[in-house]
Amino acid sequence: MNYQEKIKKSAELIKNSRFAIAFTGAGISTESGIPDFRSSDGIWKRFKIVTYQEFLTKKDAREEFWRMKQELLRELLGAKPNKAHNALAELEQMGLIRYVITQNIDGLHEQAGSKNIILLHGSNHEAICLGCDKTFPISNIYARLNEGEKDILCYECGGIIKPKVVFFGEPMPQKELFLASSLASQCDLMLVIGSSLQVEPAASIPRITFKNGGKLIFVNKSETDWDYMAEIIFHQSAGEVLMDILNRLKN
Ligand code: NAD
Repeated sequence: MNYQEKIKKSAELIKNSRFAIAFTGAGISTESGIPDFRSSDGIWKRFKIVTYQEFLTKKDAREEFWRMKQELLRELLGAKPNKAHNALAELEQMGLIRYVITQNIDGLHEQAGSKNIILLHGSNHEAICLGCDKTFPISNIYARLNEGEKDILCYECGGIIKPKVVFFGEPMPQKELFLASSLASQCDLMLVIGSSLQVEPAASIPRITFKNGGKLIFVNKSETDWDYMAEIIFHQSAGEVLMDILNRLKN
């Protein structure tokens, strides 16, 4: 199938679906200027992974984490939704996509106007003190990093402050994981957008749909180990593909 045939077939699958959902990863936000993790200029090429255990127990690991976060926040705080986020929000308004399950922590689906969002890895917009549970807007933490603080501790109780995101080695939020798994088993169509499908257990969500006989449309610039599951695959940029599908559905 050529590109236009794939767009036409994708639009038909969405239109004829009973319950379609989207599953998104860092790749949907690269066109908003936020780097993903595994592309050639991705975050893991520049920083080392800090696990939850290391963050809790080692000052130098926290400092490494906050150096990475400061760089990410510079891009993230000014970022705006792109064509792909906007298209998903519009598809939801049209009643064609019911939920967005996202691994992203950047808040761009919310900004674009999607309403039914499941955040598998939390949100970067708030931080919490692990000692006294006080919460802080992330802009407050960013200001402290820019003033030169390296290990961000609570001024009130001295506890470790952590962004409300799920770290490597930290348990996933059980309610979100349960909801995402249930939706994945109920849906008859899933759009999988901008994910290398390497981070578990989130990456297993599309497999649930596949096992239950649901169809998958993949939109990912590079190949993944799970491409064989897809009914239709686009190795192109998410913004272009989703806008073309949306326009096809509107005409
Ligand atoms: P990943 O970095 O492992 O994979 C991203 C994939 O997106 C790659 O396969 C890449 O080819 C593809 N891609 C890049 N730009 C694209 C584009 N414009 N259109 C289509 N595809 C594109 O990302 P992941 O699978 O989401 O796993 C990384 C983890 O990192 C997730 O848990 C996520 O929470 C976190 N993360 C989030 C953000 C964010 O919130 N924006 C950014 C970096 C990492």
